[in-house]
Order: sequence, then structure tokens, then C-alpha cells
Amino acid sequence: TGAKTPKPDWLRIKLTTGDNYQEIKQMMSSKKLHTVCEEARCPNIYECWANRTATFMILGDICTRACRFCAVKTGLPTELDLQEPDRVAEAAEQMNLQHCVVTSVARDDLKDGGASIFAATIKAIRKRLPLCSVEVLIPDFQGDEASLRIVMDAKPDILNHNIETVERLSDRVRAKAKYRRSLELLKRAKQMQPGIPTKSSIMLGVGETYEEIVQAMDDLRAIDCDILTLGQYLQPSPAHLAVERYVHPDEFAKLKQEGLARGFSHVESGPMVRSSYHAHSQVKSAAAT
Ligand code: SF4
Ligand code: SF4
Repeated sequence: TGAKTPKPDWLRIKLTTGDNYQEIKQMMSSKKLHTVCEEARCPNIYECWANRTATFMILGDICTRACRFCAVKTGLPTELDLQEPDRVAEAAEQMNLQHCVVTSVARDDLKDGGASIFAATIKAIRKRLPLCSVEVLIPDFQGDEASLRIVMDAKPDILNHNIETVERLSDRVRAKAKYRRSLELLKRAKQMQPGIPTKSSIMLGVGETYEEIVQAMDDLRAIDCDILTLGQYLQPSPAHLAVERYVHPDEFAKLKQEGLARGFSHVESGPMVRSSYHAHSQVKSAAAT
């Protein structure tokens, strides 16, 4: 069949590795920690690590789900690592992080979906690095309200849960997650802790229309979601969901304005934007509103 669509210029990045990067990479592996920055082969890794922002992936590196866009391994997870929260906090301290994002694979095998480990990680980071803001990017806990409450009670600085795509494509793109269930989670989080900003993300280029993106924004604003990130989907391997189109930077800029006009306190929108990209500045802007 036809040749692969070449990546447009705006997606070509210069890879520059510094000492800082190598040092952190070594530290993560010595502490047996996983970062999304590495696992998802995130293009922003050099910039983010240099800016003292990182995204830890807790609860192992094997996911019980298999979303078609995601590079994380699927299978039977390893046993629960109760020391992990402390090691994440130690690593955050060694990196002297200003903003720490904590996310996880989906652990549908655990009763609380791993919520208590999220809470323990938030507390462990606070203890070692009181000035570091902590954002959690959580799975849907299969809609379990008690699990969400465990996380919200630990008071993260930002509660992030990605809807990933527009409603029409949700079942096709995500494995078991449901569009409405994700909105419900964000709505409940806001009800439980109205002072904690909520955040979500949509990746573009999987077949959605402009109108559908704007509709998803409306859906998120209807439940008072504060922060939105929009980025280009990139296929991690030929076995993954194909890229349907590369969204032009001008369209990302236009969508940012659509988002701001709808009342999001912060919209990060661009080809290389990932859920945790420039996350530190969002804490400040969300607090200011
Ligand atoms: Fe890591 Fe997120 Fe930055 Fe990517 S955007 S390098 S995942 S912190
Ligand atoms: Fe990847 Fe999350 Fe889907 Fe698991 S649930 S496959 S980690 S996107």
C-alpha cells in the first residue's frame, strides 16, 4: 500500500541530550521508577526535564487495558509496590522538581484501582518537597466514586483525567474507558473539592472534526473543567492507531482561542503539547483565577 505520510516540518524536533538528562535517566532506573516521559517516548523530554518537570508512572509499567494509541505494555500487572510512593518522592527531591505529575497505568485488577497509592504518593512528595506542586493524571477507576474520593482527599494541586478524544470516536480509540464516565469523574472531582482545578486533554488527528472538538470543549466546560490541553496524536508504532491527519499549528492556535473564549483558565494547544507539557505554569494561572 501507499507510503507513510511524511511528518510535516513542525513536528521535526532537534534531539539534544545534556548531562542533566543522562543523570536523571540513570537515577530513575536505579530507583526502579518509570516515567511517561520515557515510556511514551515523549518528544518534550529534554525540555521538560531541564525545566524540572517530570511525569512519573506509578503502579508498574504494565497496563490492564490496551488503548489503540498508547505505547504502554499490556498484560498482567506485577504485584503492588508499597515502597513506590517513597521512591517517587525521593526522585522528585533529587531532581528538585517544581512540578510533579503522577500518573499510572489502569489497574483494573485492584479493588481501588490504585487510588491509595496515588494518595500515598501525593503525601510523600509533599513531605519531602513542600513547594513542589503535584498534579495527578488518574485513570477512571472504572467509575468507582470511593476510589476518586481517596485521591481527592489527598488534595492534589491539579486533578487531571483525559477524555483523549471526541465522543464519537471514544469507543474506537480508547479500550474500556467511556466518554460520559470520564466526564462524570471530572464532575465529581469538582464537587468533592471545588478549590482544586480539574484538567483534561484531547489528542487531535485521529479523525475528529473541528465541530466535534469544540463540542468536547463545551462538554468539559459544562462540568466546570478548568484546564485543557490539545496536542497532535503521533503513532507510537505501525501496530497502533494510524494518524488520520496532522493538524496545522494555525488550527491549534485557533482552537486555543475557542477554548479561552469558553472560559477555560488555561489552554495549552499545539502539535507537541502533551498532557503534562508546561503544566507548572497552569498551577499558577489556575490559582490566580
Ligand atoms: Fe514528560 Fe509530560 Fe514533559 Fe512529556 S510533556 S516530557 S511526558 S513531563
Ligand atoms: Fe495506555 Fe492508559 Fe490506555 Fe493503559 S489505560 S493502554 S496506560 S492510555
